[in-house]
Amino acid sequence: MTRTPFVAGNWKMFKTVGEAEMFISGLLPRVSSSEGVDVAICVPFTDLQAMVDSTRGSRVQVFAQNMHEAATGAFTGEVSAPMLADLDVHGVVLGHSERRQYFNETDRALAEKVPAALEAGLVPILCVGETEAEREEGAMERKLRHQVQEDLENVPVERLHEVVIAYEPIWAIGTGKVATPEQAQEACAFVRALVAGIDADAAGAIRIQYGGSVKADNAAELLALPDIDGALVGGASLEPASFAAIVEAARA
Ligand code: PEP
Repeated sequence: MTRTPFVAGNWKMFKTVGEAEMFISGLLPRVSSSEGVDVAICVPFTDLQAMVDSTRGSRVQVFAQNMHEAATGAFTGEVSAPMLADLDVHGVVLGHSERRQYFNETDRALAEKVPAALEAGLVPILCVGETEAEREEGAMERKLRHQVQEDLENVPVERLHEVVIAYEPIWAIGTGKVATPEQAQEACAFVRALVAGIDADAAGAIRIQYGGSVKADNAAELLALPDIDGALVGGASLEPASFAAIVEAARA
Protein backbone atom coordinates (compact mmCIF):
# COMPACT_ATOMS: atom_id res chain seq x y z
CA MET A 1 0.00 0.00 0.00
CA THR A 2 1.57 3.31 -1.03
CA ARG A 3 0.57 6.30 1.02
CA THR A 4 1.35 9.82 -0.18
CA PRO A 5 3.48 11.57 2.46
CA PHE A 6 1.71 14.52 4.05
CA VAL A 7 3.53 17.39 5.76
CA ALA A 8 1.33 19.94 7.54
CA GLY A 9 2.44 23.10 9.32
CA ASN A 10 0.44 24.13 12.38
CA TRP A 11 0.87 27.87 12.84
CA LYS A 12 -1.09 27.92 16.10
CA MET A 13 -1.93 31.55 17.05
CA PHE A 14 0.74 33.16 14.89
CA LYS A 15 0.68 35.40 11.80
CA THR A 16 -1.52 38.30 10.79
CA VAL A 17 -2.77 38.30 7.20
CA GLY A 18 0.20 40.41 6.14
CA GLU A 19 2.65 38.02 7.79
CA ALA A 20 0.85 35.04 6.25
CA GLU A 21 1.15 36.61 2.78
CA MET A 22 4.89 37.13 3.32
CA PHE A 23 5.24 33.51 4.38
CA ILE A 24 3.33 32.09 1.44
CA SER A 25 5.26 34.11 -1.10
CA GLY A 26 8.42 32.57 0.37
CA LEU A 27 7.02 29.03 0.54
CA LEU A 28 5.38 28.57 -2.87
CA PRO A 29 8.54 28.74 -4.98
CA ARG A 30 10.34 26.44 -2.53
CA VAL A 31 7.75 23.64 -2.75
CA SER A 32 6.53 24.05 -6.32
CA SER A 33 8.45 20.98 -7.47
CA SER A 34 7.82 18.82 -4.40
CA GLU A 35 5.96 16.15 -6.35
CA GLY A 36 4.73 13.20 -4.39
CA VAL A 37 4.20 15.08 -1.12
CA ASP A 38 0.97 16.65 0.09
CA VAL A 39 1.67 19.97 1.81
CA ALA A 40 -0.67 21.93 4.07
CA ILE A 41 -0.63 24.99 6.28
CA CYS A 42 -3.03 25.02 9.26
CA VAL A 43 -3.72 28.68 9.88
CA PRO A 44 -5.75 30.89 12.23
CA PHE A 45 -9.34 31.52 11.12
CA THR A 46 -8.49 35.11 10.21
CA ASP A 47 -5.88 33.95 7.66
CA LEU A 48 -8.03 31.31 5.95
CA GLN A 49 -9.55 33.36 3.13
CA ALA A 50 -6.29 35.08 2.23
CA MET A 51 -4.35 31.79 2.24
CA VAL A 52 -7.01 29.99 0.18
CA ASP A 53 -6.78 32.78 -2.39
CA SER A 54 -2.97 32.91 -2.37
CA THR A 55 -2.49 29.14 -2.69
CA ARG A 56 -5.11 28.51 -5.39
CA GLY A 57 -3.56 26.42 -8.15
CA SER A 58 -0.50 25.57 -6.04
CA ARG A 59 0.35 22.34 -4.22
CA VAL A 60 -0.26 23.90 -0.79
CA GLN A 61 -3.54 23.07 0.93
CA VAL A 62 -5.11 25.26 3.61
CA PHE A 63 -6.43 23.78 6.85
CA ALA A 64 -8.19 25.31 9.86
CA GLN A 65 -7.13 24.46 13.41
CA ASN A 66 -10.52 23.74 14.97
CA MET A 67 -14.28 23.67 14.24
CA HIS A 68 -17.54 23.06 16.06
CA GLU A 69 -19.29 19.72 15.61
CA ALA A 70 -22.68 21.26 14.73
CA ALA A 71 -23.35 22.67 11.26
CA THR A 72 -25.18 25.74 12.61
CA GLY A 73 -26.49 26.86 15.97
CA ALA A 74 -26.37 29.25 18.89
CA PHE A 75 -22.65 28.74 19.64
CA THR A 76 -21.17 32.22 19.91
CA GLY A 77 -17.59 32.42 18.73
CA GLU A 78 -17.59 29.05 16.99
CA VAL A 79 -17.12 28.11 13.32
CA SER A 80 -18.61 25.05 11.60
CA ALA A 81 -17.37 22.55 9.03
CA PRO A 82 -19.73 23.78 6.27
CA MET A 83 -18.48 27.35 6.88
CA LEU A 84 -14.89 26.20 6.38
CA ALA A 85 -15.78 24.17 3.29
CA ASP A 86 -17.58 27.20 1.87
CA LEU A 87 -14.26 29.10 1.97
CA ASP A 88 -12.60 26.23 0.01
CA VAL A 89 -10.62 25.21 3.07
CA HIS A 90 -9.23 21.70 2.50
CA GLY A 91 -9.27 20.28 6.01
CA VAL A 92 -9.11 20.88 9.73
CA VAL A 93 -6.90 19.91 12.68
CA LEU A 94 -8.98 18.28 15.42
CA GLY A 95 -8.07 17.37 18.97
CA HIS A 96 -4.70 19.12 19.10
CA SER A 97 -3.29 18.67 22.61
CA GLU A 98 -3.39 22.43 23.19
CA ARG A 99 -7.13 22.41 22.50
CA ARG A 100 -7.59 19.38 24.73
CA GLN A 101 -5.52 20.98 27.51
CA TYR A 102 -6.58 24.65 27.41
CA PHE A 103 -10.02 24.59 25.79
CA ASN A 104 -11.54 21.43 27.20
CA GLU A 105 -11.72 19.59 23.88
CA THR A 106 -13.15 16.18 24.77
CA ASP A 107 -13.14 12.82 23.05
CA ARG A 108 -16.97 13.01 23.17
CA ALA A 109 -16.89 16.17 21.06
CA LEU A 110 -14.23 14.74 18.76
CA ALA A 111 -16.43 11.71 18.09
CA GLU A 112 -18.86 14.22 16.56
CA LYS A 113 -16.30 16.54 14.98
CA VAL A 114 -14.40 13.96 12.92
CA PRO A 115 -17.47 12.68 10.99
CA ALA A 116 -18.84 16.24 10.72
CA ALA A 117 -15.62 17.34 9.01
CA LEU A 118 -15.78 14.43 6.53
CA GLU A 119 -19.45 15.06 5.87
CA ALA A 120 -18.64 18.66 4.89
CA GLY A 121 -15.85 17.52 2.56
CA LEU A 122 -12.95 18.43 4.86
CA VAL A 123 -9.94 16.23 5.60
CA PRO A 124 -9.62 15.86 9.37
CA ILE A 125 -6.18 15.61 10.98
CA LEU A 126 -6.98 13.95 14.30
CA CYS A 127 -4.28 14.50 16.94
CA VAL A 128 -3.64 11.89 19.61
CA GLY A 129 -0.81 11.40 22.09
CA GLU A 130 0.26 10.75 25.65
CA THR A 131 1.73 12.98 28.35
CA GLU A 132 5.19 12.32 29.78
CA ALA A 133 3.64 10.98 32.99
CA GLU A 134 1.41 8.59 31.04
CA ARG A 135 4.40 7.28 29.11
CA GLU A 136 6.44 6.84 32.28
CA GLU A 137 3.71 4.92 34.04
CA GLY A 138 3.20 2.61 31.05
CA ALA A 139 -0.17 4.09 30.13
CA MET A 140 0.68 5.21 26.59
CA GLU A 141 -1.13 2.39 24.82
CA ARG A 142 -4.22 2.76 27.00
CA LYS A 143 -4.38 6.49 26.23
CA LEU A 144 -3.91 6.01 22.48
CA ARG A 145 -6.46 3.18 22.38
CA HIS A 146 -9.01 5.31 24.16
CA GLN A 147 -8.46 8.35 21.92
CA VAL A 148 -8.38 6.47 18.61
CA GLN A 149 -11.38 4.28 19.37
CA GLU A 150 -13.61 6.99 20.82
CA ASP A 151 -12.67 9.79 18.40
CA LEU A 152 -13.24 7.56 15.33
CA GLU A 153 -16.31 5.70 16.57
CA ASN A 154 -18.82 7.54 14.37
CA VAL A 155 -16.73 7.55 11.19
CA PRO A 156 -18.27 5.32 8.52
CA VAL A 157 -15.84 2.45 7.88
CA GLU A 158 -15.70 3.20 4.16
CA ARG A 159 -14.44 6.74 4.93
CA LEU A 160 -11.96 5.83 7.65
CA HIS A 161 -8.99 5.93 5.26
CA GLU A 162 -9.70 9.62 4.54
CA VAL A 163 -8.86 10.62 8.10
CA VAL A 164 -5.26 11.59 8.88
CA ILE A 165 -4.02 10.77 12.37
CA ALA A 166 -1.21 12.80 13.93
CA TYR A 167 0.57 10.97 16.73
CA GLU A 168 1.96 13.76 18.90
CA PRO A 169 3.54 12.83 22.22
CA ILE A 170 2.60 15.84 24.33
CA TRP A 171 6.03 15.94 25.97
CA ALA A 172 7.59 16.53 22.54
CA ILE A 173 5.35 19.41 21.40
CA GLY A 174 7.17 22.73 21.42
CA THR A 175 9.78 21.37 23.82
CA GLY A 176 12.63 20.53 21.46
CA LYS A 177 12.45 17.00 22.96
CA VAL A 178 11.85 14.87 19.90
CA ALA A 179 10.77 11.23 20.24
CA THR A 180 13.48 8.76 19.25
CA PRO A 181 12.86 7.02 15.94
CA GLU A 182 12.12 3.82 17.91
CA GLN A 183 9.53 5.57 20.11
CA ALA A 184 7.88 7.32 17.16
CA GLN A 185 7.73 4.17 15.02
CA GLU A 186 6.43 2.04 17.88
CA ALA A 187 3.61 4.46 18.70
CA CYS A 188 2.62 5.04 15.06
CA ALA A 189 2.59 1.27 14.42
CA PHE A 190 0.39 0.89 17.48
CA VAL A 191 -2.01 3.56 16.17
CA ARG A 192 -2.15 1.74 12.83
CA ALA A 193 -2.89 -1.53 14.63
CA LEU A 194 -5.75 0.21 16.45
CA VAL A 195 -7.19 1.29 13.09
CA ALA A 196 -6.73 -2.28 11.84
CA GLY A 197 -8.90 -3.35 14.74
CA ILE A 198 -11.69 -1.32 13.12
CA ASP A 199 -10.90 -2.11 9.48
CA ALA A 200 -7.80 -3.77 8.02
CA ASP A 201 -8.03 -2.06 4.61
CA ALA A 202 -8.34 1.37 6.20
CA ALA A 203 -5.26 0.67 8.33
CA GLY A 204 -3.21 0.07 5.20
CA ALA A 205 -4.39 3.29 3.60
CA ILE A 206 -4.70 5.76 6.49
CA ARG A 207 -1.91 8.29 6.85
CA ILE A 208 -0.25 8.69 10.23
CA GLN A 209 1.89 11.75 10.89
CA TYR A 210 4.40 12.18 13.67
CA GLY A 211 4.38 15.53 15.45
CA GLY A 212 6.61 16.89 18.19
CA SER A 213 9.65 19.10 17.60
CA VAL A 214 10.11 18.02 13.98
CA LYS A 215 12.85 20.19 12.45
CA ALA A 216 14.76 20.25 9.19
CA ASP A 217 17.60 18.28 10.77
CA ASN A 218 15.58 15.40 12.28
CA ALA A 219 12.78 15.11 9.70
CA ALA A 220 14.45 12.71 7.26
CA GLU A 221 15.12 10.08 9.92
CA LEU A 222 11.56 10.23 11.28
CA LEU A 223 9.87 10.36 7.89
CA ALA A 224 11.76 7.28 6.66
CA LEU A 225 10.11 5.07 9.30
CA PRO A 226 7.66 2.51 7.94
CA ASP A 227 4.53 3.63 9.82
CA ILE A 228 5.19 7.37 9.61
CA ASP A 229 3.60 8.99 6.56
CA GLY A 230 4.40 12.60 7.24
CA ALA A 231 4.68 15.23 9.93
CA LEU A 232 2.61 17.78 11.78
CA VAL A 233 5.03 20.60 12.38
CA GLY A 234 4.60 23.50 14.80
CA GLY A 235 7.52 25.86 15.40
CA ALA A 236 9.50 24.90 12.31
CA SER A 237 6.51 25.62 10.06
CA LEU A 238 6.62 29.35 10.76
CA GLU A 239 9.55 30.03 8.42
CA PRO A 240 9.34 29.12 4.72
CA ALA A 241 12.90 27.76 4.55
CA SER A 242 12.66 25.39 7.52
CA PHE A 243 9.18 24.20 6.54
CA ALA A 244 10.24 23.63 2.92
CA ALA A 245 13.25 21.63 4.12
CA ILE A 246 10.90 19.29 6.02
CA VAL A 247 8.70 18.93 2.91
CA GLU A 248 11.87 18.06 0.97
CA ALA A 249 12.82 15.44 3.59
CA ALA A 250 9.43 13.76 3.00
CA ARG A 251 10.31 13.24 -0.67
CA ALA A 252 13.42 11.23 0.05
C1 PEP B 1 2.34 20.98 16.99
O1 PEP B 1 1.98 22.14 17.18
O2 PEP B 1 1.50 20.13 16.67
C2 PEP B 1 3.75 20.65 17.16
C3 PEP B 1 4.13 19.40 16.96
O3 PEP B 1 4.60 21.65 17.54
P1 PEP B 1 6.23 21.61 17.49
O4 PEP B 1 6.62 21.10 16.15
O5 PEP B 1 6.64 23.03 17.73
O6 PEP B 1 6.66 20.68 18.58
